[in-house]
Amino acid sequence: MDDIFGKAVSEMSEFEFDCSCGKKHRVKIKNIAIGQNNIDIVAELAAYYGNQKIFLMADSNTYSVYGGKVEKLLKKEGFNLKTFVFKEERTLIPDEKALDHLLTEIETDTRLIISVGSGTLNDLAKMSGFKLHIPYYIVCTAPSTDAFASTMPPLTVESFKKDFESTCPDSIIANTTLMKDAPMTMIQAGFGTIIGKLNCMTDWVLARELSGEYYCETTVNLMLKAVQKCLYNVDLIYNRKEAAIHSLTEALILSGIAASFAGNLRPASGAENSLAHYWEMDAIANGRKRPIYGNAVGVGTVVMSSIYEMMAGRIPTACKPAKSAEIAEMLKRVGAYDDPKSLGIKREIFHKSVINAKDISTNYTVLNLASSYGLLEKFADELTKRFYD
Ligand SMILES: [Zn+2]
Repeated sequence: MDDIFGKAVSEMSEFEFDCSCGKKHRVKIKNIAIGQNNIDIVAELAAYYGNQKIFLMADSNTYSVYGGKVEKLLKKEGFNLKTFVFKEERTLIPDEKALDHLLTEIETDTRLIISVGSGTLNDLAKMSGFKLHIPYYIVCTAPSTDAFASTMPPLTVESFKKDFESTCPDSIIANTTLMKDAPMTMIQAGFGTIIGKLNCMTDWVLARELSGEYYCETTVNLMLKAVQKCLYNVDLIYNRKEAAIHSLTEALILSGIAASFAGNLRPASGAENSLAHYWEMDAIANGRKRPIYGNAVGVGTVVMSSIYEMMAGRIPTACKPAKSAEIAEMLKRVGAYDDPKSLGIKREIFHKSVINAKDISTNYTVLNLASSYGLLEKFADELTKRFYD
């Protein structure tokens, strides 16, 4: 029964079904709350832990935007709370240093972690909850990332970004009234992350066709339906309409759920993410400013659809890649960067990334196919000219 299609994402918690792909899929998240001004839900859900110790984490930005309010609410309700705020002068990086810092702050009698933020804070909460066997709640502050429901957070260890196994959150609480007012670059990053799914799905079909890799039609259709809703609402997302931000948030949460159905990152991450990983690792290793990850994924999607176009005649007919011009147009409509030069990627780094990004992930993508034809150098030359001259 694939009646998951009739459910809103907030109705999917703990839902399980026998899928046409032969697997039983189960959403392990216990509560998914997406709505207007729903801060009270944080206290309602935390009540399950009574007067046991709760660790509330934020960084200085998310604390001033929302974490302080959550802290005030939980204190007023009499919860046994310890608050920790990352006060990083540099942008917080999800690396071994930040994780160590966090693990030393979380006291041994802590029974619940509540992370207020998106992106990096999410990834750190997941890893610390997993390492300490403590459940965690994600309180989203911006629709910027698809890490909310993910069980495989990427961490940077010795300057190399790797996906680690962890557990999904117990609860996700997304206040769309707050999230619609997030900085526009964060909203654009969320949109870039979602448009990237078009390439993930094509890479997944490619791998199924060429190597018989496991593939779940239901997961793909579920994800594509959520992506199409965001594409349809692109102008409303740009104008911060709350209903459209709600759809974007749903799609971002669904991405993590889809990955848990597949048991791997196929529905969430393809070659467009490998390019974004490559650029991010290069920036971190060389002390340069990183582009916001989702913005890089959006640009990576333009690049990968271009590579699919250059591979015309060499890809299986079942692969239906998105058109690069249409992806670029959508990114422009939301005010996001649509080429690597504007994103701030240096010319030589871009050239290298097209050749080497295939080594970032073990998943087979169009980059591996292009490499097997010996075409990557040529594509790197052509794309560098296209984007930089
Ligand atoms: Zn399935």
